[in-house]
Amino acid sequence: MLKANNPELQSWIAVVPTSDFPIQNIPFGVIQTADKTARVATIIGDVVIDLQTLAELGYFADLDIDTSVFAQSNINAFMAVGKPTTLAVRDRIASLFELNNATLRDNEEHKAKVLHAVSNVQSLMPVKVGDYTDFYSSREHATNVGTMFRDPNNALLPNWLHLPVGYHGRASSIVVSGTEIRRPKGQQKPADAAPVYGASKLLDFELEMAFVVGKSTQLGDSVDVNKAEDYIFGLALFNDWSARDIQKWEYVPLGPFLGKSFASTVSPWIVVLEALDAFRVDGYEQEPEVLPYLKYEGKGNYNINLEVAIQPENVEEKVVCRSNYKYMYWNMSQQLAHHTVNGCNINVGDMCASGTISGTEPSSFGSMLELSWRGTKPVDMPDGSQRKFINDGDTVIMRGWGEVNGVRIGFGECTGKVLPAL
Ligand code: CA
Repeated sequence: MLKANNPELQSWIAVVPTSDFPIQNIPFGVIQTADKTARVATIIGDVVIDLQTLAELGYFADLDIDTSVFAQSNINAFMAVGKPTTLAVRDRIASLFELNNATLRDNEEHKAKVLHAVSNVQSLMPVKVGDYTDFYSSREHATNVGTMFRDPNNALLPNWLHLPVGYHGRASSIVVSGTEIRRPKGQQKPADAAPVYGASKLLDFELEMAFVVGKSTQLGDSVDVNKAEDYIFGLALFNDWSARDIQKWEYVPLGPFLGKSFASTVSPWIVVLEALDAFRVDGYEQEPEVLPYLKYEGKGNYNINLEVAIQPENVEEKVVCRSNYKYMYWNMSQQLAHHTVNGCNINVGDMCASGTISGTEPSSFGSMLELSWRGTKPVDMPDGSQRKFINDGDTVIMRGWGEVNGVRIGFGECTGKVLPAL
Protein backbone atom coordinates (compact mmCIF):
# COMPACT_ATOMS: atom_id res chain seq x y z
CA MET A 1 0.00 0.00 0.00
CA LEU A 2 1.19 3.51 -0.72
CA LYS A 3 2.38 5.32 2.36
CA ALA A 4 0.02 8.24 1.77
CA ASN A 5 -2.93 5.85 1.55
CA ASN A 6 -2.40 4.41 5.03
CA PRO A 7 -5.50 5.35 7.06
CA GLU A 8 -3.44 5.24 10.28
CA LEU A 9 -1.04 7.94 9.09
CA GLN A 10 -0.97 11.05 11.30
CA SER A 11 0.61 14.40 10.52
CA TRP A 12 2.42 16.92 12.74
CA ILE A 13 0.33 19.55 10.99
CA ALA A 14 -2.91 19.89 12.95
CA VAL A 15 -5.88 18.81 10.84
CA VAL A 16 -9.49 19.09 11.99
CA PRO A 17 -11.54 15.92 11.29
CA THR A 18 -13.81 17.78 8.86
CA SER A 19 -10.91 18.92 6.69
CA ASP A 20 -10.84 17.69 3.11
CA PHE A 21 -7.06 17.59 3.25
CA PRO A 22 -5.67 15.05 5.71
CA ILE A 23 -2.17 13.65 5.14
CA GLN A 24 -3.76 10.80 3.14
CA ASN A 25 -4.95 13.22 0.44
CA ILE A 26 -1.92 15.23 -0.79
CA PRO A 27 -3.52 16.79 -3.88
CA PHE A 28 -1.60 19.00 -6.29
CA GLY A 29 -2.28 22.59 -7.29
CA VAL A 30 -0.61 25.92 -8.00
CA ILE A 31 -0.27 28.83 -5.59
CA GLN A 32 0.99 32.35 -5.63
CA THR A 33 2.07 34.34 -2.58
CA ALA A 34 2.46 38.11 -2.44
CA ASP A 35 6.24 37.96 -2.90
CA LYS A 36 6.74 34.89 -5.05
CA THR A 37 5.92 33.60 -8.51
CA ALA A 38 3.48 30.77 -9.20
CA ARG A 39 4.63 27.36 -8.01
CA VAL A 40 3.32 23.83 -7.61
CA ALA A 41 2.00 23.12 -4.12
CA THR A 42 0.04 20.72 -1.97
CA ILE A 43 -2.10 21.18 1.13
CA ILE A 44 -2.47 19.44 4.51
CA GLY A 45 -5.29 20.78 6.69
CA ASP A 46 -5.19 24.53 6.16
CA VAL A 47 -1.45 24.65 5.55
CA VAL A 48 -0.22 25.01 1.99
CA ILE A 49 3.17 23.49 1.16
CA ASP A 50 5.36 25.12 -1.47
CA LEU A 51 6.79 22.18 -3.41
CA GLN A 52 9.17 24.29 -5.49
CA THR A 53 10.97 25.45 -2.36
CA LEU A 54 10.79 21.99 -0.80
CA ALA A 55 12.43 20.59 -3.95
CA GLU A 56 15.09 23.33 -4.00
CA LEU A 57 15.94 22.50 -0.39
CA GLY A 58 16.76 18.97 -1.53
CA TYR A 59 13.89 17.01 -0.04
CA PHE A 60 13.24 15.20 -3.34
CA ALA A 61 16.93 14.93 -4.30
CA ASP A 62 16.96 11.12 -4.46
CA LEU A 63 13.71 10.83 -6.40
CA ASP A 64 15.14 11.43 -9.87
CA ILE A 65 12.86 14.36 -10.64
CA ASP A 66 13.84 17.61 -12.34
CA THR A 67 12.97 20.25 -9.72
CA SER A 68 12.01 22.72 -12.47
CA VAL A 69 8.68 20.87 -12.83
CA PHE A 70 7.62 22.52 -9.55
CA ALA A 71 8.63 26.03 -10.69
CA GLN A 72 5.65 26.29 -13.03
CA SER A 73 2.32 28.06 -13.22
CA ASN A 74 0.53 24.71 -13.78
CA ILE A 75 1.06 21.07 -12.82
CA ASN A 76 1.34 19.80 -16.43
CA ALA A 77 5.12 19.30 -16.38
CA PHE A 78 4.85 17.57 -13.01
CA MET A 79 2.11 15.24 -14.25
CA ALA A 80 4.15 14.48 -17.37
CA VAL A 81 6.99 12.87 -15.37
CA GLY A 82 4.72 9.87 -14.95
CA LYS A 83 2.89 8.10 -12.15
CA PRO A 84 5.82 6.16 -10.65
CA THR A 85 7.54 9.48 -9.92
CA THR A 86 4.51 11.60 -9.00
CA LEU A 87 3.37 8.90 -6.57
CA ALA A 88 6.89 8.69 -5.11
CA VAL A 89 6.79 12.47 -4.55
CA ARG A 90 3.41 12.08 -2.88
CA ASP A 91 4.76 9.36 -0.58
CA ARG A 92 7.81 11.46 0.23
CA ILE A 93 5.54 14.34 1.26
CA ALA A 94 3.55 11.93 3.44
CA SER A 95 6.81 10.83 5.11
CA LEU A 96 8.05 14.37 5.67
CA PHE A 97 4.83 15.42 7.40
CA GLU A 98 4.37 12.21 9.37
CA LEU A 99 3.90 12.74 13.11
CA ASN A 100 7.20 11.20 14.16
CA ASN A 101 9.44 12.54 11.41
CA ALA A 102 11.52 15.40 12.88
CA THR A 103 13.45 16.21 9.68
CA LEU A 104 11.27 19.11 8.59
CA ARG A 105 9.13 19.33 11.72
CA ASP A 106 12.05 20.62 13.80
CA ASN A 107 13.66 22.77 11.11
CA GLU A 108 12.11 26.20 11.74
CA GLU A 109 14.08 27.88 8.96
CA HIS A 110 12.86 25.46 6.31
CA LYS A 111 9.30 25.48 7.64
CA ALA A 112 9.20 29.28 7.39
CA LYS A 113 10.15 28.95 3.72
CA VAL A 114 7.79 26.19 2.62
CA LEU A 115 4.65 26.45 4.76
CA HIS A 116 1.90 29.03 4.22
CA ALA A 117 -1.49 29.52 5.82
CA VAL A 118 -4.03 28.82 3.09
CA SER A 119 -5.55 32.25 3.76
CA ASN A 120 -2.25 33.90 2.75
CA VAL A 121 -1.96 32.37 -0.71
CA GLN A 122 -3.90 32.61 -3.91
CA SER A 123 -4.81 29.37 -5.65
CA LEU A 124 -4.32 29.57 -9.40
CA MET A 125 -5.78 27.47 -12.21
CA PRO A 126 -3.95 24.17 -11.52
CA VAL A 127 -3.84 22.76 -15.04
CA LYS A 128 -3.17 24.20 -18.47
CA VAL A 129 -6.08 22.58 -20.25
CA GLY A 130 -5.34 21.79 -23.89
CA ASP A 131 -8.61 20.12 -24.76
CA TYR A 132 -11.79 19.86 -22.77
CA THR A 133 -14.41 17.16 -23.35
CA ASP A 134 -17.76 17.04 -21.62
CA PHE A 135 -19.57 13.74 -21.26
CA TYR A 136 -23.22 13.11 -20.43
CA SER A 137 -22.92 9.96 -18.36
CA SER A 138 -25.54 10.13 -15.61
CA ARG A 139 -28.55 8.10 -16.67
CA GLU A 140 -30.84 10.00 -14.31
CA HIS A 141 -29.73 13.37 -15.66
CA ALA A 142 -30.09 12.28 -19.29
CA THR A 143 -33.50 10.79 -18.47
CA ASN A 144 -34.67 13.96 -16.72
CA VAL A 145 -33.58 16.19 -19.59
CA GLY A 146 -35.05 13.84 -22.19
CA THR A 147 -38.31 13.73 -20.25
CA MET A 148 -38.55 17.52 -20.07
CA PHE A 149 -37.56 18.34 -23.63
CA ARG A 150 -38.64 15.34 -25.69
CA ASP A 151 -40.72 12.37 -24.65
CA PRO A 152 -41.03 10.78 -21.18
CA ASN A 153 -41.55 7.40 -22.85
CA ASN A 154 -38.37 7.67 -24.90
CA ALA A 155 -36.29 9.91 -22.68
CA LEU A 156 -32.96 8.31 -23.62
CA LEU A 157 -31.93 8.58 -27.25
CA PRO A 158 -31.15 5.21 -28.94
CA ASN A 159 -27.35 5.60 -28.63
CA TRP A 160 -27.24 6.48 -24.92
CA LEU A 161 -27.00 2.97 -23.42
CA HIS A 162 -24.45 1.91 -26.05
CA LEU A 163 -21.81 4.63 -25.77
CA PRO A 164 -20.77 7.46 -23.43
CA VAL A 165 -22.19 10.47 -25.26
CA GLY A 166 -19.95 13.55 -25.20
CA TYR A 167 -18.92 16.69 -27.06
CA HIS A 168 -15.77 18.77 -27.44
CA GLY A 169 -16.03 21.78 -25.15
CA ARG A 170 -14.06 24.99 -24.81
CA ALA A 171 -10.80 24.90 -22.81
CA SER A 172 -10.04 28.65 -22.88
CA SER A 173 -12.87 29.60 -20.52
CA ILE A 174 -12.18 27.07 -17.75
CA VAL A 175 -11.38 29.09 -14.64
CA VAL A 176 -10.31 28.31 -11.09
CA SER A 177 -12.69 28.39 -8.15
CA GLY A 178 -13.32 31.91 -6.89
CA THR A 179 -13.31 33.52 -10.32
CA GLU A 180 -16.40 35.68 -10.86
CA ILE A 181 -18.70 34.59 -13.69
CA ARG A 182 -20.25 37.17 -15.99
CA ARG A 183 -23.82 36.37 -17.03
CA PRO A 184 -23.58 35.57 -20.73
CA LYS A 185 -25.49 37.25 -23.54
CA GLY A 186 -26.67 35.58 -26.68
CA GLN A 187 -29.50 34.62 -28.94
CA GLN A 188 -32.69 33.19 -27.50
CA LYS A 189 -35.99 32.20 -29.02
CA PRO A 190 -39.12 33.10 -27.05
CA ALA A 191 -42.09 30.83 -27.71
CA ASP A 192 -44.15 32.14 -30.66
CA ALA A 193 -41.83 35.09 -31.32
CA ALA A 194 -38.74 35.89 -33.37
CA PRO A 195 -35.27 35.29 -31.88
CA VAL A 196 -33.92 38.02 -29.58
CA TYR A 197 -30.46 38.96 -28.35
CA GLY A 198 -29.80 39.70 -24.69
CA ALA A 199 -28.62 38.49 -21.29
CA SER A 200 -29.45 34.88 -20.50
CA LYS A 201 -32.43 34.63 -18.15
CA LEU A 202 -31.91 30.94 -17.41
CA LEU A 203 -28.37 30.70 -16.04
CA ASP A 204 -27.69 27.32 -14.45
CA PHE A 205 -24.93 25.27 -12.84
CA GLU A 206 -24.10 21.67 -13.69
CA LEU A 207 -22.66 19.55 -10.87
CA GLU A 208 -19.85 17.53 -12.41
CA MET A 209 -16.48 16.02 -11.67
CA ALA A 210 -13.60 16.30 -14.13
CA PHE A 211 -10.61 14.03 -14.58
CA VAL A 212 -7.24 15.31 -15.76
CA VAL A 213 -5.17 13.36 -18.28
CA GLY A 214 -1.64 12.73 -16.98
CA LYS A 215 -0.21 10.69 -19.87
CA SER A 216 -0.34 11.41 -23.60
CA THR A 217 -1.01 9.08 -26.52
CA GLN A 218 0.07 9.26 -30.14
CA LEU A 219 -2.39 10.05 -32.90
CA GLY A 220 -3.84 6.71 -33.98
CA ASP A 221 -3.52 5.10 -30.54
CA SER A 222 -6.47 3.88 -28.51
CA VAL A 223 -6.56 3.52 -24.73
CA ASP A 224 -7.62 0.09 -23.47
CA VAL A 225 -10.60 0.39 -21.13
CA ASN A 226 -8.85 -1.67 -18.48
CA LYS A 227 -5.62 0.36 -18.69
CA ALA A 228 -7.29 3.77 -18.84
CA GLU A 229 -6.48 4.59 -15.21
CA ASP A 230 -2.79 4.77 -16.15
CA TYR A 231 -3.72 7.88 -18.15
CA ILE A 232 -5.81 9.56 -15.44
CA PHE A 233 -3.79 11.74 -13.05
CA GLY A 234 -6.60 12.91 -10.79
CA LEU A 235 -9.93 14.61 -10.32
CA ALA A 236 -11.50 17.93 -9.39
CA LEU A 237 -14.96 19.36 -8.88
CA PHE A 238 -16.35 20.98 -11.99
CA ASN A 239 -19.21 23.44 -12.50
CA ASP A 240 -20.17 23.41 -16.16
CA TRP A 241 -22.11 26.71 -16.17
CA SER A 242 -24.95 26.59 -18.69
CA ALA A 243 -27.29 29.19 -20.17
CA ARG A 244 -30.41 27.12 -20.79
CA ASP A 245 -32.21 29.63 -23.01
CA ILE A 246 -29.19 30.04 -25.31
CA GLN A 247 -28.59 26.28 -25.23
CA LYS A 248 -32.17 25.38 -26.10
CA TRP A 249 -32.24 27.51 -29.26
CA GLU A 250 -28.76 26.72 -30.57
CA TYR A 251 -28.14 23.04 -29.80
CA VAL A 252 -29.91 21.37 -32.73
CA PRO A 253 -28.35 19.58 -34.59
CA LEU A 254 -24.71 19.84 -33.49
CA GLY A 255 -25.01 20.11 -29.72
CA PRO A 256 -23.93 22.63 -27.08
CA PHE A 257 -22.03 25.75 -28.17
CA LEU A 258 -22.33 29.28 -26.72
CA GLY A 259 -24.73 28.19 -23.99
CA LYS A 260 -21.78 26.35 -22.41
CA SER A 261 -18.56 27.94 -23.63
CA PHE A 262 -18.70 31.19 -21.60
CA ALA A 263 -17.30 29.56 -18.43
CA SER A 264 -16.62 26.40 -16.46
CA THR A 265 -15.23 26.47 -12.91
CA VAL A 266 -12.79 23.91 -11.51
CA SER A 267 -11.68 23.36 -7.90
CA PRO A 268 -8.03 24.29 -7.24
CA TRP A 269 -6.62 21.00 -5.91
CA ILE A 270 -6.32 17.96 -8.18
CA VAL A 271 -6.84 14.85 -6.04
CA VAL A 272 -4.84 11.96 -7.48
CA LEU A 273 -6.79 8.88 -8.49
CA GLU A 274 -4.79 6.70 -6.07
CA ALA A 275 -5.97 8.81 -3.09
CA LEU A 276 -9.51 7.71 -3.88
CA ASP A 277 -8.92 3.93 -3.89
CA ALA A 278 -10.81 3.43 -0.63
CA PHE A 279 -13.97 4.88 -2.20
CA ARG A 280 -14.20 2.53 -5.18
CA VAL A 281 -17.59 0.90 -5.68
CA ASP A 282 -19.24 -1.21 -8.33
CA GLY A 283 -20.89 0.63 -11.17
CA TYR A 284 -24.36 0.04 -12.57
CA GLU A 285 -25.12 -3.20 -14.32
CA GLN A 286 -25.01 -2.25 -17.98
CA GLU A 287 -27.90 -3.61 -19.96
CA PRO A 288 -27.85 -3.98 -22.93
CA GLU A 289 -24.38 -5.47 -22.78
CA VAL A 290 -21.75 -3.01 -23.96
CA LEU A 291 -19.38 -3.65 -26.85
CA PRO A 292 -16.09 -5.36 -25.90
CA TYR A 293 -13.99 -2.17 -26.12
CA LEU A 294 -16.16 -0.65 -23.35
CA LYS A 295 -16.18 -3.67 -21.02
CA TYR A 296 -14.64 -2.60 -17.74
CA GLU A 297 -13.51 -5.19 -15.15
CA GLY A 298 -13.64 -4.17 -11.50
CA LYS A 299 -14.98 -1.35 -9.39
CA GLY A 300 -14.91 1.67 -11.66
CA ASN A 301 -17.20 4.03 -9.77
CA TYR A 302 -16.35 6.17 -6.74
CA ASN A 303 -18.44 6.87 -3.66
CA ILE A 304 -17.83 10.61 -3.41
CA ASN A 305 -20.50 12.74 -1.77
CA LEU A 306 -21.31 15.86 -3.72
CA GLU A 307 -23.32 18.90 -2.77
CA VAL A 308 -24.26 22.24 -4.25
CA ALA A 309 -25.14 25.35 -2.25
CA ILE A 310 -26.44 28.70 -3.45
CA GLN A 311 -25.46 31.76 -1.45
CA PRO A 312 -27.31 34.95 -2.35
CA GLU A 313 -25.42 38.17 -1.63
CA ASN A 314 -25.21 38.85 2.14
CA VAL A 315 -27.42 35.85 2.94
CA GLU A 316 -26.52 32.45 4.36
CA GLU A 317 -26.09 29.65 1.86
CA LYS A 318 -28.60 26.94 1.16
CA VAL A 319 -27.65 23.45 0.07
CA VAL A 320 -29.93 22.74 -2.89
CA CYS A 321 -28.52 19.42 -4.08
CA ARG A 322 -26.93 16.34 -2.50
CA SER A 323 -25.63 13.88 -5.07
CA ASN A 324 -22.81 11.36 -5.44
CA TYR A 325 -20.17 10.58 -8.06
CA LYS A 326 -21.19 6.92 -7.86
CA TYR A 327 -24.31 7.79 -9.89
CA MET A 328 -22.40 7.38 -13.14
CA TYR A 329 -23.63 4.92 -15.72
CA TRP A 330 -20.39 5.24 -17.71
CA ASN A 331 -17.17 5.39 -15.68
CA MET A 332 -14.02 7.38 -16.44
CA SER A 333 -12.23 4.42 -18.01
CA GLN A 334 -15.11 3.79 -20.38
CA GLN A 335 -15.21 7.48 -21.25
CA LEU A 336 -11.49 7.55 -22.05
CA ALA A 337 -11.61 4.27 -24.02
CA HIS A 338 -14.50 5.60 -26.07
CA HIS A 339 -12.81 9.00 -26.53
CA THR A 340 -9.75 7.33 -28.07
CA VAL A 341 -11.29 4.33 -29.86
CA ASN A 342 -11.16 6.24 -33.16
CA GLY A 343 -7.45 7.03 -32.72
CA CYS A 344 -7.95 10.54 -31.33
CA ASN A 345 -4.86 11.39 -29.29
CA ILE A 346 -4.98 12.80 -25.77
CA ASN A 347 -2.45 15.09 -24.11
CA VAL A 348 -1.26 15.77 -20.59
CA GLY A 349 -3.57 18.43 -19.17
CA ASP A 350 -6.66 17.47 -21.12
CA MET A 351 -9.77 17.65 -19.00
CA CYS A 352 -12.81 15.38 -19.27
CA ALA A 353 -15.94 16.28 -17.33
CA SER A 354 -18.46 13.67 -16.25
CA GLY A 355 -21.66 15.36 -17.28
CA THR A 356 -24.21 16.51 -14.75
CA ILE A 357 -24.43 14.00 -11.90
CA SER A 358 -28.00 13.33 -10.76
CA GLY A 359 -29.34 10.50 -8.62
CA THR A 360 -32.87 9.14 -8.51
CA GLU A 361 -34.10 11.38 -5.66
CA PRO A 362 -35.23 14.88 -6.70
CA SER A 363 -32.94 16.34 -3.98
CA SER A 364 -29.96 14.78 -5.80
CA PHE A 365 -30.57 16.44 -9.15
CA GLY A 366 -27.40 18.21 -10.29
CA SER A 367 -28.77 21.31 -12.03
CA MET A 368 -31.43 23.96 -11.41
CA LEU A 369 -33.09 22.83 -14.64
CA GLU A 370 -33.92 19.55 -12.91
CA LEU A 371 -34.23 20.83 -9.30
CA SER A 372 -36.84 23.40 -10.33
CA TRP A 373 -38.13 21.06 -13.05
CA ARG A 374 -37.73 23.61 -15.83
CA GLY A 375 -38.85 26.45 -13.53
CA THR A 376 -42.13 24.83 -12.45
CA LYS A 377 -40.94 24.02 -8.87
CA PRO A 378 -39.05 27.02 -7.47
CA VAL A 379 -36.50 26.36 -4.71
CA ASP A 380 -36.98 28.32 -1.44
CA MET A 381 -34.03 30.33 -0.15
CA PRO A 382 -33.26 31.35 3.48
CA ASP A 383 -34.13 35.01 2.83
CA GLY A 384 -37.63 34.14 1.58
CA SER A 385 -36.74 34.49 -2.08
CA GLN A 386 -37.05 31.67 -4.58
CA ARG A 387 -34.83 30.35 -7.32
CA LYS A 388 -35.76 28.75 -10.59
CA PHE A 389 -32.29 29.44 -11.97
CA ILE A 390 -29.26 31.46 -10.73
CA ASN A 391 -29.64 35.18 -10.00
CA ASP A 392 -27.01 37.92 -10.30
CA GLY A 393 -25.08 38.15 -7.03
CA ASP A 394 -25.56 34.46 -6.22
CA THR A 395 -22.51 32.39 -5.42
CA VAL A 396 -22.70 28.72 -6.40
CA ILE A 397 -20.60 26.50 -4.13
CA MET A 398 -19.82 22.85 -4.90
CA ARG A 399 -18.20 20.46 -2.43
CA GLY A 400 -17.16 16.83 -2.67
CA TRP A 401 -15.63 14.29 -0.31
CA GLY A 402 -15.33 10.60 0.40
CA GLU A 403 -15.18 9.15 3.89
CA VAL A 404 -14.20 5.67 5.02
CA ASN A 405 -12.54 4.26 8.17
CA GLY A 406 -12.60 7.71 9.74
CA VAL A 407 -10.54 9.23 6.93
CA ARG A 408 -12.16 11.97 4.86
CA ILE A 409 -10.63 12.91 1.53
CA GLY A 410 -12.16 15.87 -0.21
CA PHE A 411 -11.79 18.36 -2.98
CA GLY A 412 -12.23 21.69 -1.19
CA GLU A 413 -14.68 24.06 -2.80
CA CYS A 414 -15.57 24.98 -6.36
CA THR A 415 -17.19 28.42 -6.19
CA GLY A 416 -18.24 31.16 -8.56
CA LYS A 417 -20.22 34.35 -8.04
CA VAL A 418 -22.47 35.49 -10.86
CA LEU A 419 -22.08 39.10 -11.99
CA PRO A 420 -24.72 40.96 -14.03
CA ALA A 421 -24.35 40.94 -17.80
CA LEU A 422 -22.43 43.91 -19.19
CA1 CA B 1 -22.11 19.52 -18.83
